Amino acid sequence: MSHSHPAWLVRTTLALLFLALCGTSLLLWKQMENAQQERIRDRVGYQARALAAELENNLVDEVEGLRRMALLWNHQDRIPRDQWTLEANFALEHFPGYQSIQWMGADLRMRWVLPEKGNEAAIGFRLTRNHPNFNLAMQAKASGEAQLSNSFPLVQGGRGFVLYTPLYIKDEQSDHTFDGFLQGVFRVEPLMDALLASLDNRDFSVQLLESGQSIYQQDQPESLTPLSQRVPLHLLNNSNFALQLSPTRKLVEQLSSPLPQVLLGASLLTSLLLVAALALALENARRASALQEGYRRLNDEVSQREHAEQDLNESRERLQLVLDLTDFSQDGLFIFDLASREILHMNRATHASLGYSAEAFRHLLKEDPEQLLPGFHSWLELVRQARRDGDSGIFQREMRRADDSLQAAEISAQLVSLNGRDYLIGVSRDNRERLELEARLQRLSQQDGLTGLYNRRYFDRQLNGEWRRLRRLGAPLALLMLDVDHFKAFNDRLGHQAGDDALRRVAQALQQSLQREGDVACRYGGEEFAIILANTAEDGARHVAERVMAQVAELDIEHPASPEGRLTLSIGIAISDPAREDQPDSLVSRSDAALYRAKREGRNRTCLWEKAQG
Ligand code: GH3
Ligand code: MG
Ligand code: MG
Repeated sequence: MSHSHPAWLVRTTLALLFLALCGTSLLLWKQMENAQQERIRDRVGYQARALAAELENNLVDEVEGLRRMALLWNHQDRIPRDQWTLEANFALEHFPGYQSIQWMGADLRMRWVLPEKGNEAAIGFRLTRNHPNFNLAMQAKASGEAQLSNSFPLVQGGRGFVLYTPLYIKDEQSDHTFDGFLQGVFRVEPLMDALLASLDNRDFSVQLLESGQSIYQQDQPESLTPLSQRVPLHLLNNSNFALQLSPTRKLVEQLSSPLPQVLLGASLLTSLLLVAALALALENARRASALQEGYRRLNDEVSQREHAEQDLNESRERLQLVLDLTDFSQDGLFIFDLASREILHMNRATHASLGYSAEAFRHLLKEDPEQLLPGFHSWLELVRQARRDGDSGIFQREMRRADDSLQAAEISAQLVSLNGRDYLIGVSRDNRERLELEARLQRLSQQDGLTGLYNRRYFDRQLNGEWRRLRRLGAPLALLMLDVDHFKAFNDRLGHQAGDDALRRVAQALQQSLQREGDVACRYGGEEFAIILANTAEDGARHVAERVMAQVAELDIEHPASPEGRLTLSIGIAISDPAREDQPDSLVSRSDAALYRAKREGRNRTCLWEKAQG
């Protein structure tokens, strides 16, 4: 069931169905019951009619004796009393229903009565006009037919009937002379008892009705008056009677079959079972659908979870792939927990570029980060600061290689807070080559192309820097200006190429003359050179100048146009005076002035600037 009805609706429907089935069962039962009642009534009616007919026939049979006596009487013109007595006694013995048998003469006066005992009152009785049976008797006399009276109070006491059978004899005038009545007298109870006794009736309670009034009743135990039936009863010629018969329960039970009840029970039970089965089926269906719904939801959940797991696996695989790919990077890529300095991830380049195994790198970062990255803790501070300031977070650091040498590294560091923990994501690059390149470019930008000495630009910057630095320290700075003597002539004689060679050799000689770190020789321009001597006073400067002279002399470059015959220099020296507020320019102009003096005084010499010169 894709969609279930509300429980109350199902329950109500089932209840209605049950009621309908019960109603139908009851209706069916009622119909069967009615049919059965009809059948019982028919059967009772039939039996009652049969009983009445039997009773009628019985009476006819029993009074046959009287008819026979009457025939004898008529035939023999009155029979003698002895014979009558004989016949009457025979009839009395034969049928106990008689109260008496008697002969009433034509004068309507009672003559003979048998048995005498119990009927004394009848002897001498005379039928008069006011007797209830008078008319009936007259009718019998006139018609010649026997007539049974209605019940009436007998002179002997009690109620009874009289059967009037007219008698005739022949005499002189006519052969059909009325000779009185042969009378059978019946008391109601004995008559009915006797008639019924021979019927062996146990199935009905019997009531004899005369003109609708009950005059006799014989009850059977447990008779059912509602089922009683009245059938007309013709007692001889008298039709005023009826029998009311009530069947006994036993008879009804015999007649009725338990089928309707059984059927009702079965039908009700079937209804109940059907509805119960239906309810069970519905309940099962409901439960099954609920179960199915549960299964469906579970399935959904399972497949969702499977999907999620698959996604997770895929993203894990993807992540692993990405992480694996980082191994191909030349740059080191690492993530570590800032507090514990546990590495979450690092690629191969991170440790391999420094000559460490992964384990050793992990161990070193955790146990001695200062060894791995000198100034580690202050660097972390810088990283934090960079985050606060929103700076790029690219740092030039040095990292210690496994062989204990230092390696320049450009580290791009990013702090990330996740779940209350700080992580550092770093990309380190071995930028030695770049730094070297940079240095080379730097040098190139500072170098003179011809001689390899520092160029004029570098000279200016260096002189300014040193001048400020040494003035702060209160230390002296010496500047030597050097100029090749008669160089124009040298070029003219030997060619420009030879001039260049000579300049290169002189530059070399200058370089070799410098022994202290920080001393700088520059090509100032053309064939002029400058030497900056930091922290050097006059003596030192003269000493350097002498060495230069000696070195150049040692070169022994032939100069056909020089009076000396070989290449020489002139040198002007100026020493800065920290006490003066001069600019470095004045140091240059003073050494220039000193050089000019050296030229003027004959060349191939060194002159010191002096105040007097101005
Ligand atoms: P002085 O002794 O007075 O210095 O005489 P000088 O000939 O050297 O005179 P000056 O300094 O005025 O002349 C410089 C000459 O140096 C001019 C040029 O022919 C030569 N010169 C300058 N720069 C170069 C260079 O780079 N290569 C060559 N071959 N010659 C140069
Ligand atoms: Mg010159
Ligand atoms: Mg010159």
